Amino acid sequence: MIVMKFGGTSVGSAGSIRGVIDIIRQAANSGKDPFVVVSAVSGVTDMLLAAARSSLGKGSSVKGIVGGIERKHADIISGLGIAPDILLEDLAELEKVLYGIWLVREITARTTDYVASFGECMSSRIVAAYAKKCGLNAKEFNAYDLGMITDSNFGSAEILPSTYEAIAAAVEKMPSGTIPVVTGFVGKTSEGEVTTLGRGGSDYTASIFGAALGAEEIQIWTDADGVMTADPKLVPGASTVPVVSFEEASELAYFGAKVLHPKTILPAMSRNIPVRVLNTFNPHNGGTLILREVDAKRDVTAITCKKDVYVVNINSLRMLLAYGFLNRVFRLFEEFSVPVDLIATSEVNVSMTIEKNFDISQLVERLKEFADVRVMSDRASISLVGRGIKSVPGVGGRMFSTLGNRGINVEMASQSYSDVNLSVVVKEDQLEEAVRALHSEFFGAGNGLAAEAVASAVAAAPKGAYLRSRQKN
Ligand code: ADP
Ligand code: ASP
Ligand code: MG
Repeated sequence: MIVMKFGGTSVGSAGSIRGVIDIIRQAANSGKDPFVVVSAVSGVTDMLLAAARSSLGKGSSVKGIVGGIERKHADIISGLGIAPDILLEDLAELEKVLYGIWLVREITARTTDYVASFGECMSSRIVAAYAKKCGLNAKEFNAYDLGMITDSNFGSAEILPSTYEAIAAAVEKMPSGTIPVVTGFVGKTSEGEVTTLGRGGSDYTASIFGAALGAEEIQIWTDADGVMTADPKLVPGASTVPVVSFEEASELAYFGAKVLHPKTILPAMSRNIPVRVLNTFNPHNGGTLILREVDAKRDVTAITCKKDVYVVNINSLRMLLAYGFLNRVFRLFEEFSVPVDLIATSEVNVSMTIEKNFDISQLVERLKEFADVRVMSDRASISLVGRGIKSVPGVGGRMFSTLGNRGINVEMASQSYSDVNLSVVVKEDQLEEAVRALHSEFFGAGNGLAAEAVASAVAAAPKGAYLRSRQKN
């Protein structure tokens, strides 16, 4: 079996869904036993979340909002020529929930998740209906009806350990030959309340199903040619990295490469299942294969970045030669459930980056009880990721001089213990220039093998063969 996850743009129009069905059919014809996971139609999750917020203020807007969501799907449905009424019940239920929000003048994390879950529910119906029309034995499922059980941390739910067994048992009961089309992103608590796994969480769903079912491969079909040396939207010259290790992929995802949800790799890694990232709009490109061990001689594998981070600077002379200070600081982060991305320390200072979507106001007040605290916004982190960062001398020097030569100030720097990642913080308005400059320093012309040459070497090599990419002379 292979798990094939199709993202929002892949199911974003009638034309792209036709492409998706071709890809699924080819997998089925070559005996791969596809298990399909889908995201919501692109833009729909944002629309649903906005709908929930605006229903709070105006009951009269509900009809209009639901109408917009309906039209977006109706265009796709008519383009595919499938039954026009397949979403009627979902849309009626959505309207009821939005009126409910308006009536009680309250929106909770629980209701928000329920509203957000409609996106994947509707896209799975559309994809399954069109697959059936094309003669495939497809059937839509809500992930929670196939065992996807989570805790009640709405908005960012985590699966319960029993999920893996529950999924295996549920799928076992399916008639053989069925091609399931399953909702990404959503789950349910054991009490039956709908949850979501966090934005971009359909990748994680795919990996969980892949691990639970012992899949041969987990495929993430998206709108880029695999994991690239940088976000192609930011760096047009970025190229595909043909093979990446689990460790590198996790680090890239965690530090901003949106192509994979940060938790995607964990379930796959636990069962040593390869993950392949492929382009729905360029299906013959080999994409990226993510494996446990990659014997590649390269310094930097890819560059990634995160906008919208705070830098919190904690200064205190009490830190000097004292123990227990950092413990006090981190206990507060734990108390407020605020995760730290990067950290750098000196004798009297700790600097950390935190994603801006966490509310840190109370945390900062408490820190101020025993230290001087400064919070800087409009900052961004840039990370070089690659196993070679540890073994190839001079990567840090090149990073700092590339930025320094352009007058870009590095406000903080941090290298992880595993040495897979070297990160710096810069002002957000210098981010694009910094990433492009670093990309041209580490991946520019003449700085290694062309991506196509590496890709064809990988394609020609036996499975698991040694890969030598971007070798320096
Ligand atoms: P999907 O809807 O398929 O899940 P996403 O928008 O979540 O797609 O992720 C794909 C996007 O990730 C790409 O369009 C690209 O702009 C962005 N991205 C960021 N970093 C990278 C990278 N290193 N390699 C490839 N894509 C990246
Ligand atoms: N539809 C969800 C989102 O937009 C999940 C996903 O696309 O993976 O965040
Ligand atoms: Mg995504």
